[in-house]
Amino acid sequence: MAYNVTLIPGDGVGPEVTEATKRVLEATGVKFNWEIGEVGSYAMEKYDTPLPAYVIESVKKNKVALKGPVTTPVGSGFRSVNVALRKELELFVCLRPCKTYPGVPSRFKDIDLIMVRENLEDLYAGIEFEKGTPEAANLIKFIADAKKGAIRPDSGISIKPISEFRSKRIVKFAFDYARQYHRKKVTAVHKANIMKFSDGLFLACAREVAKDYPDIEFEDRIVDNMSMQLVQKPEAYDVLVAPNLYGDILSDLCAGLVGGLGVAPGANLSADLALFEATHGSAPKYTGMNKVNPMAMMLSGMLMLRHLGEKEAGDRVEKAVAAVIAEGKDVTYDFKPGAPDKAVGTSQVADAVIRKLQRK
Ligand code: NAD
Repeated sequence: MAYNVTLIPGDGVGPEVTEATKRVLEATGVKFNWEIGEVGSYAMEKYDTPLPAYVIESVKKNKVALKGPVTTPVGSGFRSVNVALRKELELFVCLRPCKTYPGVPSRFKDIDLIMVRENLEDLYAGIEFEKGTPEAANLIKFIADAKKGAIRPDSGISIKPISEFRSKRIVKFAFDYARQYHRKKVTAVHKANIMKFSDGLFLACAREVAKDYPDIEFEDRIVDNMSMQLVQKPEAYDVLVAPNLYGDILSDLCAGLVGGLGVAPGANLSADLALFEATHGSAPKYTGMNKVNPMAMMLSGMLMLRHLGEKEAGDRVEKAVAAVIAEGKDVTYDFKPGAPDKAVGTSQVADAVIRKLQRK
């Protein structure tokens, strides 16, 4: 049987890491029917939209997608395809496992953290008011009339909605994940001391949900303290759950702990859909250079295999990637900080991982 999977190469370095990963997944012997979905700048040229409707329909039909990164123009141009995909498909979970593999250039060893990030609300909800517009002026007036404070007229404003429903849903996911994968502790991350009605609500929801999981330890941390503690004693943490913005930032922090974006995989999940993608972005300056590390994308593919029920194939991919890292020969520039001239390219990493997979 072949799995129907929507393959979204993305742009920037996306197509290169996606191709490398596709080759590795096919080398496991698991069969796929890839349905290609073009998004981002390439789709913009061809379909006049960065996110054509057929891509959304394809993911809804296949229920599983593997996606490369997509560039979001800063400040102007089209809105984030990544945010739009998450919204359209109600992908409310961003799951990012962060694990050290022996041989990665990192100051830390034996890290095994799971970051669970709420994907749909918070400051990333996309509700924004541009400086100088009548809408921004109206909002500023409304806030002044309600005696909630004076906002300078030359301000741009982004809204931070945090709901009870979505907070409980993400925390419940974190606890269910902890239970399923025999994790011991869930830590909720927030800034409830300052933002009492948004982060405060998130924390209250987390505390309430935690009562249903007496078998799993629960604690909370303020996000600034959390950042420091993750650097000082990452081994003290297990599953972290956070609203969107803190989750995004801490995901990169955790990626840094385990050797960088080159080895940080991820999954975006809804109740019935799953879209797998690396934590890193499209690294535009390296486009077409066969340079960046495809391992984060390969490990996202490993998560996809496990999600499809192909646990054994997923384990083999992880073992093969870990073996290439441990050997330290066929790795990209980010794993050769002292000797970049000894690094290999994206496709050569795929060749090396495939050789490991094929070794009995
Ligand atoms: P980035 O992750 O693309 O790159 C930052 C730096 O990290 C790169 O310059 C490179 O030095 C390093 N890096 C990233 N991926 C690497 C890899 N696989 N191997 C080795 N080194 C790697 O972040 P950015 O520069 O902030 O963002 C570039 C674009 O990507 C932006 O338009 C941003 O919006 C977008 N982005 C997309 C996604 C996504 O599609 N899910 C995620 C993050 C950022």
